[in-house]
Amino acid sequence: MSQQLKVQEKLEAIRSRIRLAEIQAGRPANSVTLIGASKKQSSHLIALFNEAGLRHCGENYLQEAIEKQAALNSHDIEWHFIGQIQSNKTKLIAEHFTWVHGIDRLKIASRLATQSTKPIKLLIQINPDEETSKGGVPLSEGAELADQIAQLDNVEIRGFMTIPQAEKKPDRQKSTFAKVHELLVQTNQRYSLDLNQLSMGMSGDLEAAVSEGATMVRIGTDLFGARK
Ligand SMILES: *Cc1c(COP(=O)(O)O)cnc(C)c1O
Repeated sequence: MSQQLKVQEKLEAIRSRIRLAEIQAGRPANSVTLIGASKKQSSHLIALFNEAGLRHCGENYLQEAIEKQAALNSHDIEWHFIGQIQSNKTKLIAEHFTWVHGIDRLKIASRLATQSTKPIKLLIQINPDEETSKGGVPLSEGAELADQIAQLDNVEIRGFMTIPQAEKKPDRQKSTFAKVHELLVQTNQRYSLDLNQLSMGMSGDLEAAVSEGATMVRIGTDLFGARK
């Protein structure tokens, strides 16, 4: 089988998993955006996926991402920064990405606001299990941070992203995602905001995330294969 056919099959398989999960949750078709988590994957492979119809890519490492974006500049790809953000990197992030998923403090958001030439779309990272190895704010701090960011010009706060503890049991995966969804609802009520994006779900918990309201899933391994 040609590489292009294999790529089409992989993309089709993930789209089917998303579609099935949407149906099981009673959600309309295309309510979930697929982001290919393309860290450590080659520009060549990303190009093939884009030609097969993948429009959104998420990258974690700034230098690697900038190199791949240059190689792929003739492709229509919307880039999401999904890695940890160091404050001395915000200018380059603002220049190279339309979405930033890992906001965990006001300082980062205000630097992006000042340094960006276009309104950049932000998601606050929630660390629901309060793991020290991961970035993000506890559930209890998400709403207030969203309200603070909402007052900045030149950035759009759009919702929350999360990377929960690895967990095999679907019910436990769902209960964490449900808490982040509930946070979005509460934040909108409390501060009269209109947040509408939940970036949650990876290869191992895509179905649980879609069941609990994910609007973006970030899929690496099950889409591109193992990372180098
Ligand atoms: C690598 C990565 C993913 C994708 O993980 P897989 O388990 O390979 O699907 C999703 N989100 C973030 C933030 C990542 O770093």
